[in-house]
Amino acid sequence: MTPFFQYTPNMSADHPVVNSLTKRLANLSPEARQAAENFSVLMPHAFASRFAWDVEGPIQKEFLPTAEELFSATGYSVDPLAESQAEVAPGLIGKYQGRVLLKVTTRCAIHCRFCFRRHLLTQSVPKKNKEWLPALQWIAQDQSVREVIFSGGDPLMVSDRRLSWLAHRLAAIPHLMRLRIHTRMPVVAPERITSGLIAWLRETRLTPIVVVHVNHVDELDHTAMMALARLVDGGIPVLSQSVLLKGVNDDEQTLVALFERLITARVIPYYLHMLDQVVGAAHFEVDAGVAIGIINRLRLLLPGYAVPRLVRETPGAESKLAL
Ligand SMILES: *Cc1c(COP(=O)(O)O)cnc(C)c1O
Ligand code: SF4
Repeated sequence: MTPFFQYTPNMSADHPVVNSLTKRLANLSPEARQAAENFSVLMPHAFASRFAWDVEGPIQKEFLPTAEELFSATGYSVDPLAESQAEVAPGLIGKYQGRVLLKVTTRCAIHCRFCFRRHLLTQSVPKKNKEWLPALQWIAQDQSVREVIFSGGDPLMVSDRRLSWLAHRLAAIPHLMRLRIHTRMPVVAPERITSGLIAWLRETRLTPIVVVHVNHVDELDHTAMMALARLVDGGIPVLSQSVLLKGVNDDEQTLVALFERLITARVIPYYLHMLDQVVGAAHFEVDAGVAIGIINRLRLLLPGYAVPRLVRETPGAESKLAL
């Protein structure tokens, strides 16, 4: 599978050079090295090779550690969405009516510095098939559940054999109608979107929906665009979700370019998330008033279908809250 580049400061110095990335990491400040020790730098080789890792680019802000991660900000926590309290069976998060979230892995292809699960990715989730039985039983006994969301980590880090086994077991539950997959893979490891993946998504009785996580137009190179095309050509509805991030995409020109490119890929922008207040990510926060101003201007610049909903995930709320 995909070869990965991973870096923590205490690793041996002989990891392979990927562009100028290794040099960049060798020159980190002591604080940024500490940040990389807290949450490693991880990305696929091919993704690393796409960028020059120059200091000013927006992509490096998403993926390279900085001293700012060590700042502690009030209101920020390690589990900002109180997900641990919503775990109704091992690996199963039941917060909302009608849909549940299944954490099929805590592994990712890439580490995003702003990730709200960045402190939770070391938790364990069921691995063996039989460890999934409590979650499957919980879903089977709650007739109101219509949709299961494969989440993680990144669910597409799991093999098609294991995912299709789960899909098969879920399809046997009569009240389930849909299977949603939230993933960053089409963007960061496009080769994961194989004919084998599309085959089992097409074969399941459940209606499949893919939601791709993408924040900046530069993430969508031609390999990512082709991966999205394979999904759409395969008959899979594809939506997008993005996080509004200071210094990455918090201006309307950047977002117009992103959403137009998604529409070109036949992907419908679904959510634009306000940052979840996770320890280490406060420097990414965009003020709510600024965010609302941006989304209002996007409505003037883009067709309605290209403007996602601006939402905030709020612990205890029964859905994401629209701003
Ligand atoms: C976002 C989310 C969902 C899905 O919500 P939609 O509004 O249907 O996209 C489900 N469960 C959890 C825990 C979520 O965070
Ligand atoms: S769970 Fe998603 S946002 Fe978080 S580090 Fe993994 S790929 Fe990035």
